[in-house]
Amino acid sequence: SGDNDERALLVVRDLRKYFGDPDRGSPVIAIDSVNFEVKRGDFLTLLGPSGCGKSTTLQCIAGLQHPSSGQIDMDGEIVFSDQQGITVPANKRKLGMVFQSYAIWPHMTVFDNVAFPLVHGSARVPSAEVKRRVMEALELVELDHLALRYSPHLSGGQQQRVALARALVHQPKLLLLDEPLSNLDVQLRDTMRVEIRQLVKQLGITTVFVTHDQAEAMSMSDEIVLMQSGRIMQKGTPRQIFLCPKSRFAADFMGRSNLIPAALNHDGTIADTPFGQLRCNPDHKLAPNSRALLVIRPQAIVVPDPEVDAVSPNTLLGEIRTLSFLGETVEIDLGINGHCLKVMADPYLSLSAGQVIRVVLPPERCLVVPDPDASDRT
Ligand code: ATP
Repeated sequence: SGDNDERALLVVRDLRKYFGDPDRGSPVIAIDSVNFEVKRGDFLTLLGPSGCGKSTTLQCIAGLQHPSSGQIDMDGEIVFSDQQGITVPANKRKLGMVFQSYAIWPHMTVFDNVAFPLVHGSARVPSAEVKRRVMEALELVELDHLALRYSPHLSGGQQQRVALARALVHQPKLLLLDEPLSNLDVQLRDTMRVEIRQLVKQLGITTVFVTHDQAEAMSMSDEIVLMQSGRIMQKGTPRQIFLCPKSRFAADFMGRSNLIPAALNHDGTIADTPFGQLRCNPDHKLAPNSRALLVIRPQAIVVPDPEVDAVSPNTLLGEIRTLSFLGETVEIDLGINGHCLKVMADPYLSLSAGQVIRVVLPPERCLVVPDPDASDRT
């Protein structure tokens, strides 16, 4: 494998999937021209709201759905193409899969559940080898001590770990996870996030994960593919997607943002806004003099020490309308020219409602994205 290591393990090209008969009424376009690659050993997450096409994409990769068009390559081999259709069926793709419903069999022990793919797979695995590999997989998820227990006597988290062990037991090339944590309570979900990520990284398994939870996506992924209405809106590392959203959708979906209507100047570096003129990050593709949205996250806004002289550009004065002390941060609604700016401040500053404070909007953090409402009007 050494010389292949640079090549992507999974390549999804121009993938489309329609549901329904196109000749009778308009079909549902579940995914529309989806393109991405997953590097060997990487953890990639398909993220987006309900109905955006994440599961359909995953099922096409799994071979459980027949794509309408496009191409899918796995480990250098075409598994689906327009010309040939499905060339490698689901059971020959060397996949491990875990879905939202645990789908482990209640009438079987933990051991038998995990052994199932080995015992019932296409290759005959000798029983000593089955035993060794099942126990290895159970050790990985720390359930070896419960091998003989029946699955109804396991907690939700333990059942999900059994499903994971079963997905890993035949050493898959690619692990597909569709919202595997959504049936678990909040605390367990947080623990399992870390466990799953550590486990697949330790084993070096390439993983595609599906979730609608942005925090889950950020904490687990090397790369995030953000989807809306069957299309990819943005791809990047969690840091890139969170800090540099390229659309109003991305800014909204990945946590809170101030979305400020703005008119760009002749060279696109200064924006006229209800808060006054603001210098903005010039790294955008919008035309000069166009209408846009200026995006700045509440935590990107700096509340400087009142004792220090104001020298920074984009300094605004505002009155604290409301303030919630949350411990880790302080959430402030700041009134400026009759408009509201959301700010997150350092909890160690002593601030109170009614106070007038100075805030700085660092220009590189004032991102310019297209204003979908402005383009609708023209
Ligand atoms: P969720 O998080 O709710 O599962 P999702 O992002 O995974 O959503 P998909 O399940 O991939 O979304 O669905 C994408 C679109 O395709 C939706 O509009 C859905 O209603 C539609 N769809 C999915 N499966 C079918 C089907 N078998 N027949 C018709 N339409 C379908």
